[in-house]
Amino acid sequence: MSEHGAARRVTIVGGGFSGASMAVQLVRASPLPLAITIVEPRESAGPGLAYSAADPDHRLNGPTWSHSILPDDAGHFTRWCESHSILLRDPEAVAADGNAFVRRGDYGEYLADAVRAHARWPATGSRIAHLRDRAVGLAPGRESIALHTAGGRVLESEMLVVATGNPLPRLQAPFARALADHPSVIENPLETTRLAGIDPQARVLVVGSGLTALDVVSTLVRAGRPGPVVVASRRGLRPRPQPPSGSPGGGASPLPGADAPVPLERIMGSVPGFLLREAPPTLRGWVRALRARIREVEAQGESWHRGFDELRDVVWQAWPLLPAAEQRRFLRRMRVWYDAHRFRAPPQNDALVRDAEARGGVRFRAARLRAVEPSVGGALRVHFADPGGAGESVESFDAIVNCTGLDVAARLRASPFLASLVDDGWLRVDDAGIGFAVDANCSAIGADARVRSALRVVGPPTAGTFGDPLGAMFIAAQIWRMLPDALAFLAQAQAPSPPRPFQPLSPF
Ligand SMILES: Cc1cc2nc3c(=O)[nH]c(=O)nc-3n(C[C@H](O)[C@H](O)[C@H](O)COP(=O)(O)OP(=O)(O)OC[C@H]3O[C@@H](n4cnc5c(N)ncnc54)[C@H](O)[C@@H]3O)c2cc1C
Repeated sequence: MSEHGAARRVTIVGGGFSGASMAVQLVRASPLPLAITIVEPRESAGPGLAYSAADPDHRLNGPTWSHSILPDDAGHFTRWCESHSILLRDPEAVAADGNAFVRRGDYGEYLADAVRAHARWPATGSRIAHLRDRAVGLAPGRESIALHTAGGRVLESEMLVVATGNPLPRLQAPFARALADHPSVIENPLETTRLAGIDPQARVLVVGSGLTALDVVSTLVRAGRPGPVVVASRRGLRPRPQPPSGSPGGGASPLPGADAPVPLERIMGSVPGFLLREAPPTLRGWVRALRARIREVEAQGESWHRGFDELRDVVWQAWPLLPAAEQRRFLRRMRVWYDAHRFRAPPQNDALVRDAEARGGVRFRAARLRAVEPSVGGALRVHFADPGGAGESVESFDAIVNCTGLDVAARLRASPFLASLVDDGWLRVDDAGIGFAVDANCSAIGADARVRSALRVVGPPTAGTFGDPLGAMFIAAQIWRMLPDALAFLAQAQAPSPPRPFQPLSPF
């Protein structure tokens, strides 16, 4: 037993950014000792799917100050980069405006380091352990929740947090499911070893033109390939560039940034008045209002980013104001446009790809894929339809890389754990159909419509409720907001009886 009394047990399923930020923020804020276990099959807790990237050209899509694991200390990651000499190893990370867009692999190191640094917290006796295992199901325990793992363990805890993040990319129509196993098709572009295996002479089709496509094309271009790369997406929208200064509010943020700007203040700000003129709000009304606001800021000599970010930063408060039918309309009609402005290109990748494009090695085209069929010698024939019925064409490729983004609808299909939680009524799919229903404090709302304070969901699986809990700084802020309620729940939860010593599961 801890010298501070019996520790309340918290199990976090998923050791990516969301799970790591949850554990670290809990440890720092809790007056009570906590015994936290992060269940994550990867080698370390922290990097997750998003930041396990080993490719040196795969960078964060925002500056260091927007990636702190601690929302109330925006300079935390910047200082880590300085103390770990990241920029000496990677001078290319620093953009023209002085902001740094570091490698995602280095960021993963930072997250793992942050978890390790909080693994023993002498002030309260709190602990974090990493169990390398996969969660498979839940059962009610005595005064607790029992998590069952693939490795046969049963973990009882007073609170369980679902932080399972993003589903893996999956081939979309018109790809037949069987093509996932075709040797020339890369369904999951995050498997960068497969990218390295593409013949330099190969004709490559990249499907999708968002940030993942930019990553993939950067990798291909850096490898010095002479073979042509075609990047096709339905509307041909590409990630927009960073704001001219790269910092919120327009001021330059020099990298030595212990004094970095505070994104949390912006995230906690109010929904801007230009969105509140219409009740109930409609998607069409919001688009019109946002466009007008962007024209206004541009007339004042500022970039569109300022108007857009006034919405983005408080989207967690604005999204729930939209009726469910309007939310679904957004997902069908506007999401691609929103994403192109929301997920901005790291300047290094943007420059690399535009340079290759200017030299003719890379070609972007707006076209819909009508059909993909295997052809001779391992090649694939792709039927394209140009926008507006302008015509059809057929091209052959030696390799196809799927960069259509994360298939949120596949979350349940891809995760037996989440599917079992829905089947057993612990969770229910939200009205927008892209995540799980939760209340303002991320407590799960089950099939019986009851709020379950002992079961929390954080990060991307709450997108249906909060709109855009997808970027690191928004997830960190989401956890910061729900923390007081989670800690109050833990304080009143019955301590485990008889108290058992906490056994670290991995040697931090
Ligand atoms: C390729 C990529 C790049 C990105 N780049 C950026 C960026 O530069 N900046 C930014 O702000 N945002 C970025 N994002 C957005 C991203 O959503 C968040 O930043 C953040 O990483 C989400 O963290 P997460 O922990 O919720 O999810 P993930 O990173 O997906 O991690 C979830 C973890 O849960 C584990 N898990 C799942 N199911 C189980 C189970 N049953 N049992 C145990 N463990 C399980 C998985 O193994 C995984 O490690 C990126 C996303 C992706 C996919």
